[in-house]
Amino acid sequence: MSLTIGVDIGGTKVGGGLVDEAGNVLATARRPTPADDTPGVISAVKDVVDELRADRDGIEAVGIGAAGWISADRSTVMLAPNLSWQDEPLREKVAEATGLPVIVENDANVAIWGEHRFGAAAGFRSSVLYTIGTGVGGGIVVKDYLLRGTHGVAAEIGHTLMVPDGRECGCGRLGCLEQYASGRALTQAAREGADREPDKAALMLKLAGGEADSITGRQISEAARDGDEVALAAFDSVGYYLGNSAADMVQLIDPGVIIIGGGVVDAGDLLLEPVRRHFTAALSKRATLPVAEIKAAVLGSKAGVIGAADLARSRG
Ligand SMILES: [Zn+2]
Repeated sequence: MSLTIGVDIGGTKVGGGLVDEAGNVLATARRPTPADDTPGVISAVKDVVDELRADRDGIEAVGIGAAGWISADRSTVMLAPNLSWQDEPLREKVAEATGLPVIVENDANVAIWGEHRFGAAAGFRSSVLYTIGTGVGGGIVVKDYLLRGTHGVAAEIGHTLMVPDGRECGCGRLGCLEQYASGRALTQAAREGADREPDKAALMLKLAGGEADSITGRQISEAARDGDEVALAAFDSVGYYLGNSAADMVQLIDPGVIIIGGGVVDAGDLLLEPVRRHFTAALSKRATLPVAEIKAAVLGSKAGVIGAADLARSRG
């Protein structure tokens, strides 16, 4: 049995899994992320790896997924906004600490690789992933090749232009998709809607104790399920932008499947139905031709660990 370890370095925790060649997670381990302490993050990764390989021989390699811009040779975190890393030679340091071969990859890239090999995109050669969390991450696989680009930073779908001269984005541009289709954008749409039309947001406001500014993602989902008009409109807004962006992906890549993952997809059809509806509308005549299906991710938060472990196995 071929075993590798996948590690997901998040803003709050370092999560790892021991994964076999069929994508099964045989054991997991986690440590808190000491976000401002780079040597501390390396130690946390080492601890996770050591826990997973205790009493086992034959671990082949470690794959790491990290938020940020990763170099094309998969060795260095060029910039990681949440961890204040710059030009951090992560591969070398983890290899030194563990004595194992290491690859480093962007967190959205490892997630789509997991879904592509073992999840919602299994069986399709070309796929696109949107990860809808606080922000919007993206990954693209074309003909079983993970698209990294010349400099390692391809597939930043969240920072493609959605609204010219629109909302300011953390990346410095105006009008990025992330500002309209993230979990944060969903909450903003719901809060603004509840301020504007409180009568139509009665269910949501009740859940939030009457305060529009306290409305949470979970409350938006709960109220939408019970028919709250403003909550449904907030999902429709996110679905509008995601559907339009997904239609652009069809024009560019013609994938077999477009996957929506990340925490917000827990809302299920509340999100997917408007995405599909706006996607079809945005494709116009092209929607009459064979076109990608839109599916929810299936591996959840394990996608990154499974994908990172698989990429470490192939190391290609
Ligand atoms: Zn941006």
